[in-house]
This record gives sequence, structure tokens and C-alpha cells, in this order.
Amino acid sequence: MRFDWATASDAGQVRAGNEDSALAVDGLFVVADGMGGHAAGEVASRVAVEALQASAGTGIVDAVRLANQAVIDRADADPSLRGMGTTVCAIALGADGQVEVVNVGDSRAYLFRDGELVQITEDHNYVAQLEREGRITAEEARVHPQRNIITRVLGNDPDVQVDVFPVDAFRGDRFLLSSDGLFNEITDDAIADVLRNHRGLQEVADELVRRANASGGRDNITVVVVDILDDDDKARSASAALAGAAATTATEPIRDAPPADPAPRPSRPDDTITIEPPPPRGRRLTWRSVLFTIVLLAIIAAVAGSVWWFGRNTFYVGVDDERVTIFRGRPGGVLWLDPTVEQRTGLDIADVPDARRRDVVKGKDADSLADAKRYVANLRSQAEEERAASTTTTTSTSTTTTVPLGATTTTVAP
Ligand code: MN
Repeated sequence: MRFDWATASDAGQVRAGNEDSALAVDGLFVVADGMGGHAAGEVASRVAVEALQASAGTGIVDAVRLANQAVIDRADADPSLRGMGTTVCAIALGADGQVEVVNVGDSRAYLFRDGELVQITEDHNYVAQLEREGRITAEEARVHPQRNIITRVLGNDPDVQVDVFPVDAFRGDRFLLSSDGLFNEITDDAIADVLRNHRGLQEVADELVRRANASGGRDNITVVVVDILDDDDKARSASAALAGAAATTATEPIRDAPPADPAPRPSRPDDTITIEPPPPRGRRLTWRSVLFTIVLLAIIAAVAGSVWWFGRNTFYVGVDDERVTIFRGRPGGVLWLDPTVEQRTGLDIADVPDARRRDVVKGKDADSLADAKRYVANLRSQAEEERAASTTTTTSTSTTTTVPLGATTTTVAP
């Protein structure tokens, strides 16, 4: 695989020094953003980059671990450097024509492919965490006052967790590594514009830095732009050809260590804010939200159960197809529960005495099926009494209309 690359780095408009470091050699590209006080930040990022370069040939994850230890050792050796740390974001040539993107901290790797810019890495900072948890929007994250609180760095924890993103790289792909001085000043759309509209790599790198400076340049700005010139004629598979392929293959980091421990973490030295890093509340929050979800589901189930009980476990006597009918449910239904026919009685509504017909047409509630049956039986006997009374006082012709008064239904004594 053949690469071409360019780098640019600038202190910006506000900072006195530049605590970022960059490295670009064939097959290894790094951006590191140091922190921990003026001189210390510079040392941290430089020690990390030099350690990475020195361990070329080692797997990139091991190289990052060695760099982490190098920063820790350096701080241990010099009290004036205590508390220093650095981000590291790197691209290394991996096996089988893949590149491996590794990340610790809040610098970023992007892939520009088929005109689309995709962020490969996840930012290890408090605000990005809030955003991933859905507690703030991307727009709020961009201007959040606590976005300088970093949650993972080199130089703090000997067992640092390193994110690894293997990416299938193809001829024409363009990678960008940058410190936060770039993307905190200009949007991803503006970055994509530059990558799209400038062919020369040095021109791209310089233009990115120029734009970040033009937008305020409040932090050090460092970029490394890498083009894939030759992918050894690797066939571009259908899935890799999709614009989103970079995201699907690359955004799921391979965790190579247990979750970061919640030890105190350095925050950016430079910003005016001196907020303590947030307490390690991830685990507790998770359990709380699980519990909350369980309680919420239980309430929903209870409500649904009550509605079901209320809507389905009762009966009423009404009319269906001109016949007195026992329904399960409530007249008119309850929410989504429509009444259903429980039993047809064969009793003609026309035969029900006038005084009671209205009740039945409206729907007469019954606490149980037995109650409903009793009620129907009562209606039937009243209907028969009425008919008997009318047949004795009128001519016998009416008897021909009396045929089966629901002979099929069991009659329960009223
Ligand atoms: Mn920075």
C-alpha cells in the first residue's frame, strides 16, 4: 500500500505555545494533543510520538501502550511534569491491506471517501459521552462549556484502554487526523469542503489550519492528511463500496482492555474553566436506568392489565341483528377493546316488553356471564307472560308468530 501525506500545525491565535505534536512517516501517522500545563503538555505529546516512532514494527496497540508508559515514566522522573497527559490518534498500516486507526482521547480520525466525511473515532470526553447517552444534542455538544473535560488520555492509567478501528483502505481514500483545535473551530461540513475542493495535500493541510485560525484559533491546530495512492489492486467489495461502509466497519471499536477506571483525569490546563472531572457515575446511572425501565414497564403492564380487566372481564346484554345478545366487554368498548358476542339468545328484541327494551338497546351491564344469563332469562319470561296475556285477549292468529322463543338457549331461573 502506498501513501502520500502532508502535515500542518499551528499554535493558533491565543495560545503562547504549541502543545500538539504530529508524526508522518511511511505507514505511521500520528496526532497527539498534550496537556498538563505549559511545558508539560508539549513534553507529553512529544514523548508519546517519539515512543510510537521508536516502536515501529510492534503492533500499533502495543506501541500505544508503550507510549503510555513512556509518558507515565517521564512524569514520574520529573516532578514538574506531574499530571501531564496527551491524546493520541494514529493510523498504522495493518495486515492484509487494512489500516488500523487507534485512539485515546479527543483528537479525531476521519475518512473522506466518495465525497463523504465520516468520523472514525469516538471522542473520549465528557461532552461526547453526554451526547452518546442522548442527554444533549450534537449542536449542544459543539458549544458545551465542559467540552474540555477529557475522560481518557495517555499518561494517567498504566492499563489505558485503546480503541482500535480496522479500516479497509482503497485507492482514493483520504484520511484526516486532527487535534480538537480544528473541529472545535470549524464544522465537519467545512472540513469536508476543504478535503473536496483542494487536490494538493499540503494545500489541504494548510487550508484547514488557515480556516481554524480564521474562526478564532483558540487552541493549537494540528492536522495530518493521508491519501491512499495504491491499494495493491484490492478489489473493492460491495459492502466496502458503500459510502457508509467506513462507518459500519470502523465505528465499532475493538476494546482491548476492561472499561477505563474512574480515577481522576486531567482536564485541559488552558481553558478558564476549572471544573472537577465528573464523578464516575456511568455504572450507577446504568443501574438506575435499568431499574427505572423495569418500574416503567411494570406500570404500563398494570395499566394495560386493568384496562383489559375492565374492558374484557365484564358482560352486558345488548342487541345484535335484532336479537337479544350477551356480549363480553363494555357497551361501546373500552379504548382498543371492542365488545365481542359471548352468547346469542335467539330472543327477539321486538318481543321484549317496552318498559325494558330501552335498557337492553343501551346495553345492560352484568357482573358475570351468569348474571347476564339470569337477566336474559328474566326478559324471556316477561316476554312470554306478555305474549300469553295478549294471546288470551286477542285472536288466535297471533299464536302463529310465537314460534321459538329462543328454544336453543338454556334457561336459568330468574
Ligand atoms: Mn487541543
